[in-house]
Amino acid sequence: MVKVSPRGASRLKDGHVWVYRSDIVSAAGVSSGSPVMVTDHRGQILGTALYSSSSQIAVRLISRDPVADFPALLRQRIADAIAYREPLVHDSNAYRIIFSEADFLPGLIVDRYNNILSMQILTQAMDAEPVRGTLLSELTERLHPASIVERVDPRVRQLEELPARASGLLQGESTSTVFTMNGVQFQFDALEGQKTGAFLDQRENYAAAARYAHGEALDVFCYQGGFALHLAPRCSHVAGVDSSRPALEVADQNAILNHCDIEWIEASAFDLLKDYSGSGQRYDTIVLDPPAFAKSKRDLDAAMRGYKELNLRALKTLRPGGTLVTCSCSYHVSQGDFLEMLAGAARDAHRTLRLVEVRGQAKDHPVLLNIPETAYLKCVIAIVSN
Ligand code: SAH
Repeated sequence: MVKVSPRGASRLKDGHVWVYRSDIVSAAGVSSGSPVMVTDHRGQILGTALYSSSSQIAVRLISRDPVADFPALLRQRIADAIAYREPLVHDSNAYRIIFSEADFLPGLIVDRYNNILSMQILTQAMDAEPVRGTLLSELTERLHPASIVERVDPRVRQLEELPARASGLLQGESTSTVFTMNGVQFQFDALEGQKTGAFLDQRENYAAAARYAHGEALDVFCYQGGFALHLAPRCSHVAGVDSSRPALEVADQNAILNHCDIEWIEASAFDLLKDYSGSGQRYDTIVLDPPAFAKSKRDLDAAMRGYKELNLRALKTLRPGGTLVTCSCSYHVSQGDFLEMLAGAARDAHRTLRLVEVRGQAKDHPVLLNIPETAYLKCVIAIVSN
């Protein structure tokens, strides 16, 4: 049994599922491999949780009720997560099947890439051997994958004080495949060399960007070509920019797979945009999808300056009537902050922007309204009117 402070209890009552270590009153004798009952300081039951002995997030609620049969609960949650996505995902055999807290399975992420499942375990409870066994058997029974691969984040295992473990096959033999997203094909290789794939959370934004794309397009921070490949059928010319050569090599293979002619440019996005905006090079469509600039709250000011500089340069480089698709995957940057930054960039670039879409992550990455941490991706599409 874990007893939590009044502050921890009110957090749970407000709909969140986390209690931080500083709000734990007692957790004597609690084991982290199986669910534990959580009570407030008076002994009132608040639900059943998974407990971590090392993480700052000590308690992650898994149910508001007592749990008699944990494996049965896990099986049900997996079935529910699969069923939830059936009406929401179209024309794609790559999407997130389980998104941790957002699917009431804290510490577990499962992605599907065609016939390969990629699983990531982030907490002590999900790492326990019997839990792993239940997860594998239920996923196999429901989805019949050719193989299941585990992707290990060594830093997470260290933080959770779990023994080191290598990424690798858990089941089956194949580790590579080709998957389809909105009709576009991508190489996927779970283990060999650099991990390949697409950013699944951008799936719906790829399709949205394509609806507004035209003319000469530039996909900045293109990685393996997620946006560029979607824009190619709509645009007269597409160029993708990234600082990573291995990413561009896979992007080029993806272009060949889709019979697209895309120019790949290995460069620093900041330098290139500065150069283009100053030299008079112009585009009709620009996508900005940088890595998370704000990894923590402390980085917020520097991150906002980075986003503003990029957006300012992109706005100066767009022709009148041009489309800007601009993203941020930093959880610490709110949608409000992001729109404010964009308004500032438009003002400084002397451009008038019309918002056409304010978007978030694809629906297979559900946002729980009472758990703000589940919402992290922003994607704004705007048209430059002058
Ligand atoms: N738009 C991509 C995902 C981008 S991830 C997609 O939809 O698949 C961020 C990318 O930014 C990574 O590929 C990384 O190599 C690249 N990157 C990071 N810093 C960069 C910089 N300063 N200039 C150019 N690319 C950079």
